[in-house]
Amino acid sequence: MKCKVCKDTAAVALRSHNSAFCAKCFKAFFRREVERGIHAQGLLEPDDRILVALSGGKDSLALMLELSLMGYDVTGLHVDLDIPRSSAAARGHVERFCARHGLRLIVKELKAEGLSIPLVKDALNRPVCSACGKIKRHFFNRIAMEGGFTAVATGHNLDDEAARLFSNTLRWDVGYLSDQGPRLEGENGFVRKIKPLWRLTEFETANYAFLMGIENHYAPCPYSPGATFSTLKGLLQKLEAAMPGRKLDFYQGFLKRGRSAFAREQAGSAEVLHPCTECGYPTSSGDRVCGVCRIRRVVREKV
Ligand code: SF4
Ligand SMILES: [Zn+2]
Ligand SMILES: [Zn+2]
Repeated sequence: MKCKVCKDTAAVALRSHNSAFCAKCFKAFFRREVERGIHAQGLLEPDDRILVALSGGKDSLALMLELSLMGYDVTGLHVDLDIPRSSAAARGHVERFCARHGLRLIVKELKAEGLSIPLVKDALNRPVCSACGKIKRHFFNRIAMEGGFTAVATGHNLDDEAARLFSNTLRWDVGYLSDQGPRLEGENGFVRKIKPLWRLTEFETANYAFLMGIENHYAPCPYSPGATFSTLKGLLQKLEAAMPGRKLDFYQGFLKRGRSAFAREQAGSAEVLHPCTECGYPTSSGDRVCGVCRIRRVVREKV
């Protein structure tokens, strides 16, 4: 197969775009798609200071590298969850990546915050993932606010976003459907959140990571439930195989026509926020203690 741009031997075939590219032209395609995603949704201005959440997975590292090559001001943030084996591997991976590319990195250790994820897991009587997600989002925002960053970027790709949209649609969850998207406004103590890879699939990001020499990280979190999301992603893959391009249409159609309808439905139901009495983070909770400080209390009581 030949590259559709320069006719050299193709390295990557993309059915959804009815195209094949050599390595050099694929990198140019990847850049164009990130740029289109940024401009179509007004994600970034040239003078933004971006904090990129780096989990250690290929998506977030690919995002950090590409944004830095595009000339954006980026700093990585890795939250060390203190999970046996997987956290040390993820952290090492992120640290090597940033050192190799000369990129700034902030590491936040949850252990020092009294929020080591295995302790949180033992202290709570429910699956740990929602608490873990809440804690990570808390520190992404807090460190961004304290450091004067203007946007927090995450490496969610089209497959992640389409599967989340599918899941929210199956439940007709109006709250989530009203603000799902690649840009979440910064207001009331929250920094703007963006997902610049929203037009790129997992396959495309994996190819980019491979071609850019981003080392693969093979220590998955032992607490990962994975099943529901993998099922939804698998169904969308089947749809994509039968009808190439449908996944992007589904998500883009929602952004153009669906989200505003759900946002209207939700108008007026915005929660009133107050600063948490313990950490100052905005919270809608009646007792004015945010979710993360409540988790910290439970952990302290159980240890
Ligand atoms: S899978 Fe692991 S890292 Fe991911 S949210 Fe759950 S506990 Fe946290
Ligand atoms: Zn080419
Ligand atoms: Zn708090």
